Amino acid sequence: MAKDKSVKKLEDLPGIGETSAEKLKAAGIDTLEKVATSQPHDLSEKSGISVEAAKKAIQAAQEATTIEFETGTNIAEKRQALGKISTNSKDLDELIGGGIEINAITEVYGKFASGKTQLAFQLAVNAQLPKDKGGVDGKVLFIDTEGTFRPERIEEIAKAKGIDPKTALENIMVVRATSSEKQMLTIERADSLIREKGIKLIIIDSLTALFRAEFLGRGALGERQQKLNSHMHKLQQLADKYDVAVYVTNQVMDNPGILFGDPTTPIGGNIIAHAATLRLYIRKSKEDKRIIRLVDSPNMPDGECIIRVTSAGIKD
Ligand code: ATP
Ligand code: MG
Repeated sequence: MAKDKSVKKLEDLPGIGETSAEKLKAAGIDTLEKVATSQPHDLSEKSGISVEAAKKAIQAAQEATTIEFETGTNIAEKRQALGKISTNSKDLDELIGGGIEINAITEVYGKFASGKTQLAFQLAVNAQLPKDKGGVDGKVLFIDTEGTFRPERIEEIAKAKGIDPKTALENIMVVRATSSEKQMLTIERADSLIREKGIKLIIIDSLTALFRAEFLGRGALGERQQKLNSHMHKLQQLADKYDVAVYVTNQVMDNPGILFGDPTTPIGGNIIAHAATLRLYIRKSKEDKRIIRLVDSPNMPDGECIIRVTSAGIKD
């Protein structure tokens, strides 16, 4: 069935005028998909049009909303063309399948000073590189919730990559979010910024700190998780719609329920665990070395590697 492109909204359906469309919307049937899956009697009742007319409207809605399939080959080609953002460490890139993925949320969790923000700076520079140099030729939206964005570090890392430091800074749009509302609103209103500026990487550093500070106690947990859930949902939508990569950092806590092994657990529970496409756990080792563990990936085996956090950025 060919998709009828002339039908875009309820009013475009045969037999549905402005009044009946308003009635349908008031009854919660506000998309063509909802009309397409309605029963004629129900639609007739809710819109005030006859059952016969409702049948025709449903038929037209079904034609306008046929689901278009993509073959696996198509998706593979598209993903190949989108590229990945190199972390600047060959070992880490290899661990995660070539770099930070477009259309996906990559989460890094770990204790203070483990290197989460330093990796964010490196990615903010590398995203700007051309595709053959490990970048995606894009700009960056950097949401700083902790006041730890450091232009000097961007300049240092850019110089080390042979990019003009001033240009590198120009290409990073920084939003200082001081409340979870501002953090959420920035993402909810990011569509036009992403389109107009050619943003290819969204960074939220830290994803959870404001939520953790604002929603205290058991009573607030439900609301916090609900907000985080819709925040993550919107992030994934942006990632899919505009082919951007998302990198978020997360704090940790000690889980007293874990008696053996490392009790370090990321904040945010199941909501974040499910929403992040790929999770990395970073922890300090000797000197500038950090151990990174791939915790959860849809297509890569779990594993570990070592990176170094240096003045010139992330290194092997
Ligand atoms: P937090 O949870 O507190 O935000 P984080 O994981 O974001 O911590 P980072 O700020 O990424 O931590 O890492 C800080 C560490 O990075 C420092 O302790 C230091 O080891 C290293 N570092 C920062 N700046 C430099 C630099 N200019 N040269 C070398 N190493 C640096
Ligand atoms: Mg940090």
